[in-house]
Amino acid sequence: MPRMQRGLPKKRKIPGVKKVVVVSSGKGGVGKSSVSVNLALALSGLPAAADGARLRVGILDLDIFGPSLPKLMGLEGMGEPMLTSDNRLTPLRAHGLPCMSMGFLLPNSPTSDGTNNADTPVVWRGMMVMKAVQQLLFDVDWRAGSGHDLDVLVIDTPPGTGDVALSLGQLVDVDGSVIVTTPQDVAIIDTRKGVAMFRKIGIPITGAVLNMSHFLCPGSTTHHYIFGPPTSFRQTCSDLSLPILAEIPIEPTLSSCGDQGSPLVMMSSPFIARDSSHAPSEHD
Ligand code: ADP
Repeated sequence: MPRMQRGLPKKRKIPGVKKVVVVSSGKGGVGKSSVSVNLALALSGLPAAADGARLRVGILDLDIFGPSLPKLMGLEGMGEPMLTSDNRLTPLRAHGLPCMSMGFLLPNSPTSDGTNNADTPVVWRGMMVMKAVQQLLFDVDWRAGSGHDLDVLVIDTPPGTGDVALSLGQLVDVDGSVIVTTPQDVAIIDTRKGVAMFRKIGIPITGAVLNMSHFLCPGSTTHHYIFGPPTSFRQTCSDLSLPILAEIPIEPTLSSCGDQGSPLVMMSSPFIARDSSHAPSEHD
């Protein structure tokens, strides 16, 4: 396990990646993975150069205890990633984005009690977890299929301030991070802890997103604060000098689109690829 004292491992660049953006949350279930995939897809629709080329974006699901990328990107049951000749993992592709997740590496066979491993939480010991994290961070061939570096890799981290987040901050040269929370005090309290940890280990924080901030009835402009008003969130951002990046409403379509493997943001951008194939996209 990396230690927070002398003899720290040196921070490294992820091979084949120009910029790393981490999406994190203090608590689970606040919408971190939904924000990650929608952010990655939205970025992939942005122009990267005057010739109309778009940003090359990838997504890495480091939530090894509850990987949701396969589901959210429609890659469930698509098989295991292939290995390159030098034993690096080849990302799977969905909607034009290279994707890697622990969920692709877990066996899919039914377990002895008849359930599928997709229903079984990963129970691992620390050393195995750290080995898997290091492999996902440094042994993925993000240039596969295109021969080009990614402009941005979006990393979806496990919730909280555990070893994976700590290792990420200590091992990887991170360029920015987005902290996702919901309005409830329990989530905000954990957000404060997460911000403190990121600052301690030198992960630059780009800003905070309040998810499920309010609900808009169809045809109405009145905000209904189902989970409480955004007061604590805004106060916390002010106290901690965190830029507010977005306040995202409760949107049932966001949830149903995620469940179907076609993140909501695809409905609003004509520039995002809509295929679910493993083949290289027109980015390449
Ligand atoms: P986390 O990664 O923090 O555990 P998820 O992104 O998996 O959270 O979201 C948890 C659940 O909440 C999912 O079913 C997702 O579709 C839903 N969800 C997330 N954000 C919203 C939103 N703004 N409106 C409606 N449902 C949402």
